[in-house]
Amino acid sequence: YQGKRGAAGIVVYSGDGAGHPHQWLVIQAELRHALEREELILHYQPKVALPGGEVCGVEALVRWQHPQRGLLPPGEFLPAAEHSGLIVPLTEWVLRRALADQVGWAATGKEWTLSVNVSPRNLEVPGFPEFVEELLVASGIPPHRLILEITETALAGDTDEVVRAITELGRYGIGISVDDFGTGYTSLSHLRGLPITEIKIDRAFVADVARDQQSQAIVRSVIELAHGLGSRATAEGVETPEVRRWLAEAGCDEAQGYLFGRPVPWPQISVNEQTAHVEGVTR
Ligand code: C2E
Ligand code: MG
Ligand code: MG
Ligand code: MG
Repeated sequence: YQGKRGAAGIVVYSGDGAGHPHQWLVIQAELRHALEREELILHYQPKVALPGGEVCGVEALVRWQHPQRGLLPPGEFLPAAEHSGLIVPLTEWVLRRALADQVGWAATGKEWTLSVNVSPRNLEVPGFPEFVEELLVASGIPPHRLILEITETALAGDTDEVVRAITELGRYGIGISVDDFGTGYTSLSHLRGLPITEIKIDRAFVADVARDQQSQAIVRSVIELAHGLGSRATAEGVETPEVRRWLAEAGCDEAQGYLFGRPVPWPQISVNEQTAHVEGVTR
């Protein structure tokens, strides 16, 4: 998020695809319509267990099928959604859509987990845990099959409401994941007392872990931290067999990255029951 608040409280956005405040406002207005017109779509990226490489879950990643600009990645519109508060209905849409898709693949016997990214703004909305619990009851998906990912940066600025919501969601049995770990400013005390089930090691440390000693030291300690807290360690951004091998030897539990599969629309994650081969997943 590269927005800056000017003297007049106007946000100047300097990220890709939105050069000036006017464009920022245009994105907000368009996004409001996009939610109504169902222009948002979900792609899913597989998550695999190490060392074997079996698919154990999928992460939902939102995209915007923009009528003029084509398929937009979340970096192009989530900052505007966060700023305007549209992130709240957007996340609710993602949760509904993703759980409906999850019902589809649960019917094929797949016991995959579903990971959904949530904003701290959702956690601050009173009744959010109950909203998620009701969706789960309606879908018939067991709570432990849903994992909510919260970025480390979001946790660093946590409020009492955020802590209360995470505690309630955890008590209900929903998985809680700390996303992009290592890049935020969380003092470790923020993690204490939270029902964290997974720590996702940011791909900045994962990328060169096969050769860089400092990355190795950092990744090793995050794995140890995760295990000490009773959670799983997951590496994101795994692109090479060397990195995969190093992570497996270091005791990392799960991995995600282009090596195993890029985010793809749901119908392409079709499962061949005989070989448990997942299209779009290269092992
Ligand atoms: P994230 O949750 O950390 O998701 C991982 C991002 O890294 C995704 O980018 C994914 O496509 C990308 N990625 C996965 N494997 C690799 C790899 O091997 N190499 C490289 N270079 N990249 C890889 P994407 O889809 O553009 O999403 C960016 C961020 O937007 C996500 O980061 C997440 O924080 C946010 N986001 C996506 N969907 C949602 C959503 O529905 N709600 C919220 N609140 N945030 C979302
Ligand atoms: Mg994530
Ligand atoms: Mg991440
Ligand atoms: Mg990331």
